[in-house]
Amino acid sequence: MLSITGFGGVNEIGGNKFVLEDGKSRIMLDFGLSFSTASKYLDEFLQPRKLNGLLDYQELELLPKIKGIYRTDYQKHTNSSEPEEQLEFDALFLSHAHADHASYIHFLRSDLPIYGSEATLAVLKSIEETGAKGNLDLYTFTNSFQMGKTKDGRPKRLDSRDPGIVVPRQIRPASFQKPTQIGDFQVHSIPVNHSLPGCAAFVIKSPDGDLAYTGDLRFHGYGGHLTEEFVKRARGVKILLMEGTRIDKKETKTEEQVKTEISQIIRDTKGLVLANWPSRDTDRLWSIYNAAKENDRLLAISTKQAHLLEQLLRSGADVPKLDDPNIRIFLTRRGWGLLGSECERSEIDRDYAYVKWEARFLDHKNTVTFKDIRGDCSKYVLRADLFDMTELIDVKPPEGSSYIRSVVEPFDDEMNVSEQKLDNWLDHFGLKKFQTHCSGHAPGPDLEKIVREIEPEIVIPIHTNHPQKFKDLGFNCKFLESTKTMTF
Ligand SMILES: [Zn+2]
Ligand SMILES: [Zn+2]
Repeated sequence: MLSITGFGGVNEIGGNKFVLEDGKSRIMLDFGLSFSTASKYLDEFLQPRKLNGLLDYQELELLPKIKGIYRTDYQKHTNSSEPEEQLEFDALFLSHAHADHASYIHFLRSDLPIYGSEATLAVLKSIEETGAKGNLDLYTFTNSFQMGKTKDGRPKRLDSRDPGIVVPRQIRPASFQKPTQIGDFQVHSIPVNHSLPGCAAFVIKSPDGDLAYTGDLRFHGYGGHLTEEFVKRARGVKILLMEGTRIDKKETKTEEQVKTEISQIIRDTKGLVLANWPSRDTDRLWSIYNAAKENDRLLAISTKQAHLLEQLLRSGADVPKLDDPNIRIFLTRRGWGLLGSECERSEIDRDYAYVKWEARFLDHKNTVTFKDIRGDCSKYVLRADLFDMTELIDVKPPEGSSYIRSVVEPFDDEMNVSEQKLDNWLDHFGLKKFQTHCSGHAPGPDLEKIVREIEPEIVIPIHTNHPQKFKDLGFNCKFLESTKTMTF
């Protein structure tokens, strides 16, 4: 008997956590953060306490009470007993590395096998390495709340520099070429196009019927043909777990149209072009890269993006190389702010001493600082979001400069407040703002086409606020209830 339980991603966009069970085999599809539940209780400065392990998260229903899956260092620290529900699983399959699908890996046991595409694993590694150690254990696992002894025998709290504290996770690449067998489940990982590299959908074969899980997808990016291929391979499955983020939307701009608009804005700009785009969306990176190149400008990316590209290149993903003649890595001042001054190199190194992953880029031949850009603004497209606005004080953009906002438009109060701050910075520097963006998700008509072509017996809408709309289209739908098991 095949059964499905949704612990997130049911009647909400994101937070996907689905357990599939057939006989003795159990797998989890995604283990993400629920933005809707988090934003109900939390704020930038109001976060669950690490000192309370899993308890704050479980109190707010951010983490489900499932036995046997969670990290024991947190449970021991808070003396919390295992929850009653017997739902431990054999492996986690990640569709992609967006936070709403992957970031709660942090709370999972270190020995739980985690499967993802090579590029998904590269993104996880980059997020972990460029963040604060132990705050997001996606790729490795930092044992917390561990006591040891100093050389002279006094008790000492151990940290990530102590041996044995950081251990590997059971990270396993899920090949796009051949399926992975977990008990009775045969999991076929199939690449799809979304706003992140390495995204996968799954076709899962089981003794009691086949199931397809879309993850997040679209046709209108540069890898739209991949999504088409997935639709073909999923044809005729019994159950389709179908994302419906934009089921209520009629149409969308394509990535190609976004690129054309960006290119036009760059062409019309005399001074510096600043651009903000989702930092891990490599389709958008290609759009901006090509638009800059067409207009004889260099694209200056952030060091975090450079780190990500480095990891993705190793995974074999199609992204610009760091020594590409059209790419520059923008170094910002750290520590005492000596970068760009006449100081000794060793002094500048000291400024970067606390951000080791970033210090590696100091010697890269493609780096630029505010000084390079200030002297030659019309030659660059510089990556900048709200948090980079202070850099403009050093860069001093000249008259006739532009800001391209190539991210989703603000959709809640918090984003409106941030947008007002951005506008104030842009006004202060006399920058003209432009907006162009397309979503990572297919609009309603494309979603309908996917379901019509797959022709499943049963559609289970997930990752949507409008599951009913699939039923309105005449599909045979079943609706999951959060944490309740549905059997087939
Ligand atoms: Zn999502
Ligand atoms: Zn996503």
